[in-house]
Amino acid sequence: MYTVTLNNGVEMPILGFGTYQIDDLDICERSVSEALDTGYRLIDTAAAYENEAAVGDAIEKSDVPREDVFVTTKLWIQDAGYENTKDAFERSLERLGLDHLDLYLIHQPFGDVHGSWRAMEDLYDEGAVRAIGVSNFHPDRVMDLIAHNDVTPAVNQIETHPFYQRREDADFLDEHDVQHESWGPFAEGKNDIFQHDALTDIGEQYGKTPAQVVLRWLIQRDIVAIPKSVHEERITENFDVFDFELSSEDMDAIGELDEDESQFFSHRDPEMVKQLSDVEYDI
Ligand code: NAP
Repeated sequence: MYTVTLNNGVEMPILGFGTYQIDDLDICERSVSEALDTGYRLIDTAAAYENEAAVGDAIEKSDVPREDVFVTTKLWIQDAGYENTKDAFERSLERLGLDHLDLYLIHQPFGDVHGSWRAMEDLYDEGAVRAIGVSNFHPDRVMDLIAHNDVTPAVNQIETHPFYQRREDADFLDEHDVQHESWGPFAEGKNDIFQHDALTDIGEQYGKTPAQVVLRWLIQRDIVAIPKSVHEERITENFDVFDFELSSEDMDAIGELDEDESQFFSHRDPEMVKQLSDVEYDI
């Protein structure tokens, strides 16, 4: 498995498996099991996905040793703050059936993130989690965390795909040694990405699909990607990206697809801050 090295020396697989919107726990367990059998060694979940228990069951039943699997989960907004974060972490570990976590992320840049971060620093110091990071933080929010705390986030997981390439974010994260991780590598299928003309044409040169081209493009930018699928053939397809290399012309051509705008919503939109802050998971 190809890995990136985080700012604390921990190795993280560059390609993993996402589990957002896999609400059916049987389907989630089966999909994670298929991902592990295929060779994925990074599994991404979150308290708010309400499927940590199914992810944990798949890991437990797998032949893959626990130490070979990099498990990420995330702290939801309702659990922000020092004490709440410590409680939420324990509950996530319990649902996952694990005695430690590989990566714990603040899911959204809202609420008492500094209180949460200090709890996560303590969990990190205690060895309960191997790396801590954030998600959906714009560079100013990452800098606020860096400037006022001891531990620099190891990872920032942000929407990144051909239509929202995050070049400024990537430069900022690189400069501050924070690993860029893509969520929504396929923009959840928007813009007809799986039939996209330019991506199809590029893929044909290598005998690869648009999905494989997108994942390869992220990997060649040193960005961790966590595609999600509940279909075994797609889980296999999305992992089959290590036997070809996109030329610099093709990398540039994909660069041209950037619309530099979210395909979903802005984390700086006050209405969305309110809406997301009102969402509570229920497990
Ligand atoms: P995504 O991976 O961009 O797209 C998933 C969609 O693409 C699903 O509808 C899937 O359908 C389809 N698909 C997957 N592979 C395909 C292929 N080879 N050919 C055709 N269709 C394919 O979207 P995402 O799940 O939102 O993002 C990935 C992961 O990032 C999530 O699962 C989650 O772990 C993480 N995430 C994090 C945040 C955050 O706020 N931190 C937000 C969103 C996502 P099927 O499942 O039906 O195959």
